[in-house]
Amino acid sequence: MIRPRYFTLALAAVLGGAVLSFADARERYLQWEVHDKDRPQPPIVDPGYAGTQDKPGKAPSDAVVLFDGTSTDALHNGKGEPVGWEIREDGALVRGRGDAFTKQSFGDIQLHVEWRIPESQAGRSSQQRGNSGIFFMNKYEIQVLDNKDNKTYPDGMAGSVYGQFPPMVNAGRGIGKWQSYDIIFRRPHFNEEGSLKQPATVTVLHNGVVVQDNQVLMGPTRHKARTQYGKHADKLPIRFQNHGEEVHYRNIWARELPPRDE
Ligand code: MG
Repeated sequence: MIRPRYFTLALAAVLGGAVLSFADARERYLQWEVHDKDRPQPPIVDPGYAGTQDKPGKAPSDAVVLFDGTSTDALHNGKGEPVGWEIREDGALVRGRGDAFTKQSFGDIQLHVEWRIPESQAGRSSQQRGNSGIFFMNKYEIQVLDNKDNKTYPDGMAGSVYGQFPPMVNAGRGIGKWQSYDIIFRRPHFNEEGSLKQPATVTVLHNGVVVQDNQVLMGPTRHKARTQYGKHADKLPIRFQNHGEEVHYRNIWARELPPRDE
């Protein structure tokens, strides 16, 4: 029997729309017969391809391209002016003046980014070896750093939720090598009066290896301090951190994800 769609929508509304529980999933499951041929086909997406050490990858056809090696038009410096970062001949975006912000704002997304800590950072140690970071919603940082042979505090390593949770493993390739992050970020939800309804979560694959698995975030990134949530907008820009050390980025794209209850 096919259950009416409105029943699921009503249930999601009762639950607040942010959490996908077993009950939600079961209602969706029961809407269709098993192997129902009338069930809608998913949209077709050209998946592009992964980057190699010699060549950047190509974004999926339904992605928002944030940097493809040719233009910084999708970025700005935080004041609406052109970003102060340079494009190298090999298509790498190199840290320059200030941070780099996306012009577009995002909430729930899949983000792909390739990054490299160049040879110029080889003599540096701990947090000074090519430190950068990807701040989702301009608030929640996934650390960028070379930690292949470079010990630092675990909650500040590459692949960490900075200041909160270390990566499960150290999957770094090391100095001079292109590395990839594939990240699924789910935004936090807030109640009308500002209290937390549902925390942000993040899943991170570093060079294809899972280092964060649907990790619940404690709040925005803080340095040497405990954090807590404060209500903010549903969509905000992504920020690429300028920590003062040289870092290279390439092939940056995002796919906006539907809310979990859809
Ligand atoms: Mg950082």
